[in-house]
Amino acid sequence: MAKGFAQGLDVQIVEVESERKPIPVVAEADVVVVGGGPGGFAAALRAARMGASTILLEKYDMPGGVHTCGLQGAAGPGVGGIHTELMQRFADEGCIYTATQDTLSGWAGNPLSHYEAHLKPGSAFSRSSFNPEAAGCIMVRMLEEAGVRAQYGSAFVDVVVKSHAGRDSITEVIVENASGRQAIRGKVFIDGSGTAEVVARAGAPFVRGGGPQHASVAWDAQNRPIPGAQLWIMSGIDFARVLAYQTGENDPTLAKLIAAARGAGDIPPELYRPRLEGAGVYGNAYIGHPTLDMSPIQGPGTFVLWQNVPYEWGLHMDDDAEDHARAKKAMRGLIDAETRFLKKYVPGFEHAFVTNVGRYVGIRDGRHPIGEYVFSIEDARAGRRFPDAVTKPMTKTFFWDAYRPYTFEVPYRCFLPKKIDNLLLTGASLSFAFETIFMVMRNFPWCTQTGEIAGYAAARSVEQAIVPKDLEWTVPYF
Ligand SMILES: Cc1cc2nc3c(=O)[nH]c(=O)nc-3n(C[C@H](O)[C@H](O)[C@H](O)COP(=O)(O)OP(=O)(O)OC[C@H]3O[C@@H](n4cnc5c(N)ncnc54)[C@H](O)[C@@H]3O)c2cc1C
Repeated sequence: MAKGFAQGLDVQIVEVESERKPIPVVAEADVVVVGGGPGGFAAALRAARMGASTILLEKYDMPGGVHTCGLQGAAGPGVGGIHTELMQRFADEGCIYTATQDTLSGWAGNPLSHYEAHLKPGSAFSRSSFNPEAAGCIMVRMLEEAGVRAQYGSAFVDVVVKSHAGRDSITEVIVENASGRQAIRGKVFIDGSGTAEVVARAGAPFVRGGGPQHASVAWDAQNRPIPGAQLWIMSGIDFARVLAYQTGENDPTLAKLIAAARGAGDIPPELYRPRLEGAGVYGNAYIGHPTLDMSPIQGPGTFVLWQNVPYEWGLHMDDDAEDHARAKKAMRGLIDAETRFLKKYVPGFEHAFVTNVGRYVGIRDGRHPIGEYVFSIEDARAGRRFPDAVTKPMTKTFFWDAYRPYTFEVPYRCFLPKKIDNLLLTGASLSFAFETIFMVMRNFPWCTQTGEIAGYAAARSVEQAIVPKDLEWTVPYF
């Protein structure tokens, strides 16, 4: 029986038979990409540039996913391919802002700083970010230049799967948009939803967020996924005044102000919580935000702030409507409460104002597909090499193992979900175990790289008139 969104009311859930209506096939392409985050964007761009007719379906108004609609505009050095091109275009069009010790003195080593808190106080730093809205405009243009038919405002809802000679393939995806329900036909499909939504609708196997995906991982009985978060932007912040308060009153984490506001009933208990200790799939690895948490963006006086979904709620925002609605409502409330606290209590925020709230609550731990290969932390630790490696050996530090560096390869099979032959995975929806995904193998540069690889694999499959599962992969792409 379906779970409803009765919101605490004791109601009987009944089911209705929906009238089956024919759905018009309104478009057809070689490659159909669902979701325009860093993965889907790069996949569509690469496939179209290789000559494949390409459609991108995106439910919001621009590509970029968490990094545009979600306001996570952290910019870094290019890692190659489309990622480097993106960083260059953002820089050329003046939408990258860089803060240094000269423009933001007192930031390095400051406990309020999301990224630079670990530095020695007063040390040199350079933090670059792109303006998410401007970046989204550039990404829209890049897709147009490449001939991608991007359909914004179209939410993917279902697939049509057909079997032939014992092998399953998707023939159409179904979207809902201003015209109602429409079908889009394709030869190869790419799941760029960030939460493996196409995998789920196609009946391919996956593990729910918070669950075990690999034999080496014990399952937490509470099935608690790592919480998502919503970002928002405030302008008009006088950071020099904040710093003067922190040092003058010996209150580096604003603990005194937070305690005063808590005592006065001005902040709810979910705000400024300590780290989760012990229980939960991620144990004490969960990034709690016990204090203000922010990063400079767009220019002096403007910062992006974070608000995490309360971890004790264990919400599954990707596949549970009630959880999703609860997170949206709670996040709005917490952003509102934090803003009022900052303006009322923290010197330097008196004239600050909210300029932007992310269009969605980012999901950190959605579905993890089971692909033809599930990349686990053991593969990284063992420095495993693969005949179908998609990149040359790469070195990354693993949060899960106290930031130890490992050098390893990733097989093409991680891009191939089980069961469906003509579907490719990308971005945060790759077949990776969660200990490797979290904080490492789903960052913006890597998701852009894996999108490019998926786009390349799709276009090569179309050229050879085969399905991606039959594509022979022998040479690393990056
Ligand atoms: C809160 C948060 C903070 C993060 N911080 C950082 C950071 O500081 N640095 C870093 O490098 N990485 C960070 N990450 C990780 C990184 O942002 C993601 O892993 C990455 O964006 C995943 O890329 P993606 O393309 O797979 O998915 P997403 O970026 O999630 O994009 C998915 C896209 O698909 C669309 N979509 C989803 N469902 C549908 C549907 N049904 N129909 C149509 N369109 C759909 C969405 O609208 C979205 O545009 C963060 C992630 C979160 C959630």
